[in-house]
Amino acid sequence: MTPNRKRANCCFFRLRGPVGCRNHRLLRCVMARLLNVSVLVRLRDAVGAEHVLTDPEVTRPYGTDWTGRWSAQLLAVVRPANLAEVVTVMKVCAATRVPVVPQGGNTGLVGGSVPGSSDAVVLSLRRLAEHSVVDVRSRQVTAGAGMTVAQVHAIAAEAGLTYGVDLASRDSATIGGTVATNAGGVRVVRFGDTRSQVVGVEAVLADGTVVDRTNALPKDSAGYDISGLMVGSEGTLAVVTAVRLRLRDALPSGRVTTMVGVRSLDEASGLVEYVVDSRDDLLAVEYIDDVGMRLVCDFAGLAHPVAAHWPYYLLVETAQNPRLPGSVDAAVDRRLWAYRERQSEAATSLGIGHALDVALPPDALDAFLARLPSLVQPHRVFTFGHLAEGNVHIHVNGPAADDHEPAAAVLRAVAELGGSISSEHGVGRAKPEHLSLSRGPAEIAAMRAVKSALDPQGLLNPGVLFTV
Ligand SMILES: Cc1cc2nc3c(=O)[nH]c(=O)nc-3n(C[C@H](O)[C@H](O)[C@H](O)COP(=O)(O)OP(=O)(O)OC[C@H]3O[C@@H](n4cnc5c(N)ncnc54)[C@H](O)[C@@H]3O)c2cc1C
Repeated sequence: MTPNRKRANCCFFRLRGPVGCRNHRLLRCVMARLLNVSVLVRLRDAVGAEHVLTDPEVTRPYGTDWTGRWSAQLLAVVRPANLAEVVTVMKVCAATRVPVVPQGGNTGLVGGSVPGSSDAVVLSLRRLAEHSVVDVRSRQVTAGAGMTVAQVHAIAAEAGLTYGVDLASRDSATIGGTVATNAGGVRVVRFGDTRSQVVGVEAVLADGTVVDRTNALPKDSAGYDISGLMVGSEGTLAVVTAVRLRLRDALPSGRVTTMVGVRSLDEASGLVEYVVDSRDDLLAVEYIDDVGMRLVCDFAGLAHPVAAHWPYYLLVETAQNPRLPGSVDAAVDRRLWAYRERQSEAATSLGIGHALDVALPPDALDAFLARLPSLVQPHRVFTFGHLAEGNVHIHVNGPAADDHEPAAAVLRAVAELGGSISSEHGVGRAKPEHLSLSRGPAEIAAMRAVKSALDPQGLLNPGVLFTV
């Protein structure tokens, strides 16, 4: 035994030996198990035994992300039903130093909704699905964090209004998750991102303290915008339990969806300006490349939508009939959305790939896409995205799961062109080591200072957003 090694000496377990020896490891293992049992007992007291899931068969879907790329063993899945239960769970986890990973619909694409280690609990917020009456006068509603985006659309529609965020994962993605990732989606060009829809947030901090601005006024400048801080925080600052949302005028029922084959994204953007009378006419501007188009047609059994094959396809939705030049290869049909909305599913059918979500300045898009294959060669790559915001979703298939170099090369090229490493999916577990490509040292230091102020023990979603 080296002189500075301490003796672990436990009469109760009759174990003796130096730190690190077999007996010591056994003792630590027994102690950890006892601690876990005591945590589980307290969590069961908090939410009811049937809402603390520990059977690996049952917890596996909560521990594996939508892409299948990230998965982890869990201590438990805890499913609180209301704010009071979330508060108690957070107090138990703070007292016992158990990491907490907030989870909504588990549709996130950067691994942020699943733990990075087996000592964590997944806090599933799906049961927080209550909502207030829609206030038609202020055009606002308070939605529980567990409501899906589709459910909020349904209650807004009943009041003759709409919710400004829409995305293909609408049936599973939750309000809490979309706020935590500042989700974008297909209506950003019309209504802005999730941040633009949030009036105020109710959230539980790591120590169980509740911060609540869901009674927020249309205008309020009294101090820091704590709700705004929660938007895009990816479960690292607090657990969002409810959100006061802004609602919008319903979309025109006679809106028109058009698909046009184009040679470049520059041509597509020029066409968008031509087809509409005013920007108010524009409801969505998306694109698919030809590899993605062929893939989704094969995957979903769809016919090719226009006469010929083109490098890119513009999907534009307008309030009125678009003014199309006679020469274009176009189709008009609301069902054309399927080609765009099923891209992620089609990509996943190729196996576990590397999915990236970047933003580029509009005038850099074509040059970047021309360079992309050489950045990831010899692997297969295709892209689609929200053209109005220069938001490109990139799917690279072929590299091993632990081969991060192709993705890193793409992100470096994006940064060189003045783009962002995350346009709408967040940083998650996928990109913390690349955060400095999009944020300067002073900004990262300020972000870390906020994190330590609100979560001094670092228990909320460790390994997400920042390297640990
Ligand atoms: C087919 C498909 C299409 C998609 N299209 C788009 C798109 O167009 N635009 C877009 O932005 N995204 C898109 N996504 C990604 C995904 O749907 C969004 O990121 C969405 O916001 C995640 O919501 P969720 O409830 O599933 O969150 P989860 O996946 O459960 O969690 C995502 C992150 O939010 C945190 N979180 C979840 N709930 C809470 C909470 N209550 N409090 C605090 N933190 C929380 C988690 O810890 C995690 O870091 C798509 C995904 C799929 C599968």
